[in-house]
Amino acid sequence: MSLETSEAVVLRTIEYGETSRIASFLTPDHGRISAIAKGLKRPGNTIGDAIEPMTHLELVYYYKAARNVQTIKEAETINRFDDIKSDFARYSYASYCVELVGKVAPEGDPSEELFSELVEGLRFIGSCKGKMQQFCIAFCLRVLKTAGVAPVLDCCVVCRAHPDGKRVHLSLPAGGLACDKCTKEPAVTLTGAELKLLAKLGSMEDDLLGRTRVPSEICAKLFDAINRFACYHIESDLKSLGFLKSASAAL
Ligand SMILES: [Zn+2]
Repeated sequence: MSLETSEAVVLRTIEYGETSRIASFLTPDHGRISAIAKGLKRPGNTIGDAIEPMTHLELVYYYKAARNVQTIKEAETINRFDDIKSDFARYSYASYCVELVGKVAPEGDPSEELFSELVEGLRFIGSCKGKMQQFCIAFCLRVLKTAGVAPVLDCCVVCRAHPDGKRVHLSLPAGGLACDKCTKEPAVTLTGAELKLLAKLGSMEDDLLGRTRVPSEICAKLFDAINRFACYHIESDLKSLGFLKSASAAL
């Protein structure tokens, strides 16, 4: 067993008994870990204030690879992301980012890139004025790339042709762009221009993303398409998508 000090982001929390909390964290060194904080109601205990969903913190914990739940010794907040938590739309999209990363993060393995993507993503959303959906399209593409399941978007993934017609397909089982001949269901049909935009969003730096405005109807279509692709390849639903859909009128 070793005593580790590491930055971490809280993915989710569960109250455990009267005075403990178990949380899932993303760490750069050990990927996704679960850890328990005990004695939260003891006078002077400030760990509970730090261990809230989405908070970026410095964690000191006892780590043992063979153990499912690690033990937290200390936790100090780096960024609570209050600018996200005080804004319904920001919070909704940030919850999506946290859930997506939580689904692809490996348990116990180094995840430095994914960790940086999440922290930078939360910082970006914290200062977003609108455009959160288009940022989340880019974020999803980055995370899929890091996880090794990014869609091929530059040519047909099967025959390598460059379909530039009005109709192309994002084929989920084929793993990306597919021409009419090669597409396999389930697939999302897009126009050639929409597919090019999707690829462009995935390679944009944050400052350019902030200056780009995708029409809301196309943005919604691309967000749906990339998330259908993501859910297929991570083999899981994302609860936050259902919430984003039901709350879309308020976002
Ligand atoms: Zn083809």
